[in-house]
Amino acid sequence: MPELPEVETIRTQLQKLLAGKRIAKIDVSLPKMVKLPLDKFRKIVVGAKIISVGRRAKILIFNLSNGWSMLVHLKMSGRLIFRKKGEALKEQDTKWNHLVYYFADNSRLFHNDLRQFGYVKLIETADLADFFVREKFGPEPLEKDFTLDDFLVILKRRPKAKIKQFLLDQQNISGIGNIYSDEILFFAGIHPQRKAADLKPEEARKIFDGIKKILTQALKYRGTSDSDYLDALGEKGEYVPRLKVYGREGERCKKCGAIIQRLKIGGRSAHFCPQCQKL
Ligand SMILES: [Zn+2]
Repeated sequence: MPELPEVETIRTQLQKLLAGKRIAKIDVSLPKMVKLPLDKFRKIVVGAKIISVGRRAKILIFNLSNGWSMLVHLKMSGRLIFRKKGEALKEQDTKWNHLVYYFADNSRLFHNDLRQFGYVKLIETADLADFFVREKFGPEPLEKDFTLDDFLVILKRRPKAKIKQFLLDQQNISGIGNIYSDEILFFAGIHPQRKAADLKPEEARKIFDGIKKILTQALKYRGTSDSDYLDALGEKGEYVPRLKVYGREGERCKKCGAIIQRLKIGGRSAHFCPQCQKL
């Protein structure tokens, strides 16, 4: 699933590519992805201009000129691929396509999704803040105002949680998923099964540093393309060679040479080095 670095990569690209463009037409071939009646969706979106592209947690927010915002969640395998007027399409651009946005300048945005868990929603821009409060998303980890003290307070609220599950819970911190929770815990040298309450202050600080550092690094490399993820230009992210544990079960730890292991924790896979990460 695209996590913060992937969704933020797409957001940055789309902000540059789409701001100021008017939506001229929409083709919808999989109506269930649109979480409102199609005629209402078309009536609101067609003719509107995209003012800006924002993000909260893993959700992209297209702010429109008519007081509405379009929320797009890519979930497991969604892609948004932009092509200019006349630009040749690659096979991947239209593979598993369910929605196409046509802009007034003849550029296009393809919303593709192999597993079809993604969605598009409309919310009045004025109601966005309330919407995200109701969804109970935790703080944005890369915001400057997300501090170590904030992190320690949140950690104290979930004393019994295993740290892997703690990091995945969007109500604790937004935007971290399976890939980066594994990488953050490797960076911190903490075993994924450790309980939040058992962490020493120094260990909690390392996890906090890992959150900032790993997410920033992954963003710099435009995210991780281990499966379906492509950025808004249809390119792969370049973080895979930098992964230390995620997806490396059975391979050697890049730091100590031990064999990377995988464990199921609460239905999710945790990859870790049994030597570098303390239980
Ligand atoms: Zn190791």
